[in-house]
Order: sequence, then structure tokens, then C-alpha cells
Amino acid sequence: MSRLYLDANASEPLRPAARAAMLAALDVAGNPSSVHAEGRMARKLLEEARGTVARHLQGRAQDVVFTSGATEANALALHALGRNRRVLVGATEHPAILQAVPEAPRLPVAMDGRLDLAALDAMLGAGPPSLVCLMAANNETGVLHPLMEAAGLCRRHGALLHVDAVQVLGRVAMDWAAIGADSIAISAHKIGGPKGVGALLVKPGADVAPLWRGGGQERGRRGGTEALPAIAGFAAALDDLNLEAARKLGALRDAIEQGAGAATAGRGAPRLPNTACLMLPGLKAETQVIALDLMGIAVSAGAACSSGKVAASATLQAMGLGEAAACAIRVSLPWNAPADAAEGFLAAYSQLHARLRR
Ligand code: PLP
Repeated sequence: MSRLYLDANASEPLRPAARAAMLAALDVAGNPSSVHAEGRMARKLLEEARGTVARHLQGRAQDVVFTSGATEANALALHALGRNRRVLVGATEHPAILQAVPEAPRLPVAMDGRLDLAALDAMLGAGPPSLVCLMAANNETGVLHPLMEAAGLCRRHGALLHVDAVQVLGRVAMDWAAIGADSIAISAHKIGGPKGVGALLVKPGADVAPLWRGGGQERGRRGGTEALPAIAGFAAALDDLNLEAARKLGALRDAIEQGAGAATAGRGAPRLPNTACLMLPGLKAETQVIALDLMGIAVSAGAACSSGKVAASATLQAMGLGEAAACAIRVSLPWNAPADAAEGFLAAYSQLHARLRR
């Protein structure tokens, strides 16, 4: 039986263009910091990739810092921009943010998972200059925050804005220039690139103190020899993104939601086209994930992208979904989802319903 991989928000399957670019880069012997021809060849690849990241985020190449992923890019943003500032974080942010600043006040969301703009306005007005951390799209529900409006409020209050753009990249068009965030974090494996590489784009002139020092790589902003093959794959994945193809996944997602007969978290809000968060009260998320896995279908529960642990989703709890939060699974369609993905999923999901009735 062939498997059906529906866990794109945890990791997208590798794009062939990314694989090819990585294989080619593996044969580049030089270190990008070396001055000889081999080093210059590595440097050329690195700087081309930096230019690609900058182009996709509408920024400048010299303002891109390559990291080991978005967890590190988020940590670097907090470290660099959060110094001497009050940090405010969205209540439904990824653990990469929430766990990094556990004491930071949380910006509430409405029942549909979108940021409460009035609360942001009030919290910004109530204290000293802030750094606001907000994700563009939620990894569990796909809900899109009103980023443009939030950015306007941050500007009005003299606050900095860091955006975790991990899940939105390649799925929904964003006008990064108009949003004008102070930093943006992205990750390669969420767009069909390799795992273990990401980037932080900062605004021109930003003072980025490194998390650790080293040989002065990345303009002194991140020590350590750059992971060239991974970075080359990252750039190739970026250039392979196809927003129209991503938009079309919305039809499959809708078919899944309609056929599932389960409540969907964030349904009324603008969302990513590939993500459905289905709640089946009475059947624990963990049980659903294991049962579906045995039927050949890969989905996930909560934000289980680390140790395979399944805890009640903090995102759904912040949305006021209480009990149902423990019974929600995330179905996230990858860029190469087969045309019959909805039928395949629904055939298995109906067996979960049957189990519940027994
Ligand atoms: N931010 C969001 C919204 C994510 O979904 C993830 C991964 O699940 C991360 C950050 C962390 O990214 P990485 O795996 O590259 O460290």
C-alpha cells in the first residue's frame, strides 16, 4: 500500500530542484571564507543564494543571515532586536518563540485564531518600547494574522516587529516591502528544501549582535562555516515555489474539510490553502494520528514537530477551544499532494468516525 504524506507543515518533501542544487554544491571543495579559487567558487554560490533569499523577501542581500533553521532565526531576532525592549508575543506563536521568552506577555487572539488588534494597540500603548513577535500564518490551523494592520500599529507605537514567516512562504503571496517588518524568519524544510537551514532577514542598518561568535562569518552576525549544500538547496527550493499551485491545494483542502464531517479550527478566518485542523471530540489526537498512520496516512497532532510528543495544542487553547484542543489533528497538504489525496484521507478518516460510534 502506498503511503499518503499529509504533514507538509512539519516538513515538505524535498523538491527535485533542491536535491540537484545540493548534490552540485557537495562537490564544491572550498570554504566560502577562503581567498583561493575554490573558496571564491563557494563564496559565489553562497552569495547567489543570499541574493535569492533577499529577492523572495523583498530585502537586501547583505541583510540576510543564514542560520540552522527558523528556531535559530527566531532566537537571533529576539537576541538582536529584543535587547532593552519589552517583548510581546502572539499567543499562538510556535514554541520556537514561546519557549524562548516564556515570561513575555501574550497577545490574545480571537476565537478564529486571528490576532486581536485592539488588544495589541492597548498593550503597545501601556508600556515602554516593544518588540512584537508575530507569525504570518499559524502552523497548526493555517490562520493568517492581519499582519499589515499589526505592522501599522507597531510603527505608530514605535515598536519593532519580528515576523515568523515559516509557514506562509510559498503558500500565500505577501507584500513584505509594504509590511516593513524589522526582521523575518524563514526555514528551508518548510518549502521543500533541506532540513537544518534557514535565514533571518533584517532591516537595513539593524544592529545584529550574534548569538555566538566565530570566524566572523555572516558579517559577524553568526559564527560558523556556512552549510553550503543546504543553503544551495534552500535557494533552489525558493526559486521552485509556485503560488498558483499552492493556491490550487485549497480545493483538496476544502474537499477534506467538507467530507470529514468534523469541526475545523479557524474555518472562518483567512487561512493557508493547504492546512485543515480537524477536531473530533471523543477521540484523542494521539489515537487518531496512530490509527491513521497504521492506515498509511501521515498527519500530526498539535505542534508535534519536535520529539514526537503530543501535548494539547497551545494554539487551540488560546483560541478558546478547550477540550477539543486535545482531539484535533492537522492535515497539511504538501506541494506534491496527489490529486486523489482527499479521497484517500477521507476513506481512512471515516473509519475513525466508525470507531467513535462503536
Ligand atoms: N516557526 C514555525 C511557525 C514553524 O512551524 C516551525 C517548525 O515547525 C519553526 C518556526 C521552526 O523551524 P525550524 O524547524 O527550521 O527550526
